[in-house]
Amino acid sequence: MQKILTIIGARPQFIKASVVSRAIQQAEGIGEIMLHTGQHFDANMSDVFFNQLGIPRPDIQLDIHGGKHGEMTGRMLIEIEQALAEHEPDRVLVYGDTNSTLAGALAASKLHIPVAHVEAGLRSFNMDMPEEINRILTDQVSDVLFCPTTTAVQNLDKEGFGNKPAKVLQVGDVMQDAALLFAEKAAPPVSDTALPDKFVLATLHRAENTDDPVRLEQIVHALNLVHEEQAPVVLPIHPRTRNLIAKQNLDLKVRVIDPVGYFEMVWLLNHCQLVLTDSGGVQKEAFFFGRPCVTMRDQTEWVELVDEGVNELTGADTARIVGAVSRNLGRRVVDTNQLYGGGQASKRIVEELKAAR
Ligand code: UDP
Repeated sequence: MQKILTIIGARPQFIKASVVSRAIQQAEGIGEIMLHTGQHFDANMSDVFFNQLGIPRPDIQLDIHGGKHGEMTGRMLIEIEQALAEHEPDRVLVYGDTNSTLAGALAASKLHIPVAHVEAGLRSFNMDMPEEINRILTDQVSDVLFCPTTTAVQNLDKEGFGNKPAKVLQVGDVMQDAALLFAEKAAPPVSDTALPDKFVLATLHRAENTDDPVRLEQIVHALNLVHEEQAPVVLPIHPRTRNLIAKQNLDLKVRVIDPVGYFEMVWLLNHCQLVLTDSGGVQKEAFFFGRPCVTMRDQTEWVELVDEGVNELTGADTARIVGAVSRNLGRRVVDTNQLYGGGQASKRIVEELKAAR
């Protein structure tokens, strides 16, 4: 039996791991130990996903969150190393681009345990983003790199992965697997008052926006203008964003709700007129659910959506955000080119993990 130790810690990783974990359970000759670093720990940022998506309870639960990036990553490194020494897995599996991803990959590679990276090869080419540092370094120490897109494979080619022993594989995007698998579970968010019939779904949490007072103010202003002049904006607010908006005393006038579970998020994606976000995952989910997207960032790793004309990048500029929303509101989007693998990624990943032994 091949023993995989999966390391997760943040909301998007729970969603990604849910489908791969399910595929591991359905396969023979491979088993999984789950380690949760504790990076996200609120019930509505963590537990809800384990409950809704049937993710096995973590075998190892760490409690590491907050603090500066180096401190958080360092503490994870120490505790993950101990867990790896105790459980002696055949391989470590990491997802995406968080501090949990980097700490897991680094701890494993130092112990000469092979590392598989899901969502390898993505690049924004913006080294100011903590996520970019995490994904580049994780790719460097991985021996199996599961790429979601053609662009991701090309990025790794350009970085010389063709000359390395590492295996680079285009498997598609596990988030599409999740969107397809859980689409029928869509459920409206529980809320004191009814949500509007037609609305813009917004999310906002990237450090490049929330930690920069000017950008945050411009974005809040844009959200207010869209809400007042175009369509009501519904914002399931990330706890960090809520704190930073309060700290800056900004007057956010949109319909703010608590972070929602995945089933509620699917419902919101299915009922909105447009998605306005700085999230990586939500940009693609807009596409999976046929909605146009306006992305409040200067770059995206998911360039194919911009090339297809279904995602517009605006940065944090108020006028550009408002203009892009008015151009795209209510448009419908169709996935004609199967950009993300059509929902087979987790099956392919598990087949490759078994073969890579
Ligand atoms: N998400 C959710 N509830 C929310 C907001 C987001 O379930 O209130 C989901 C969303 O559908 C997507 C994932 O969380 O699957 C994206 O995570 P996030 O935006 O935090 O991170 P990123 O994708 O930017 O790394």
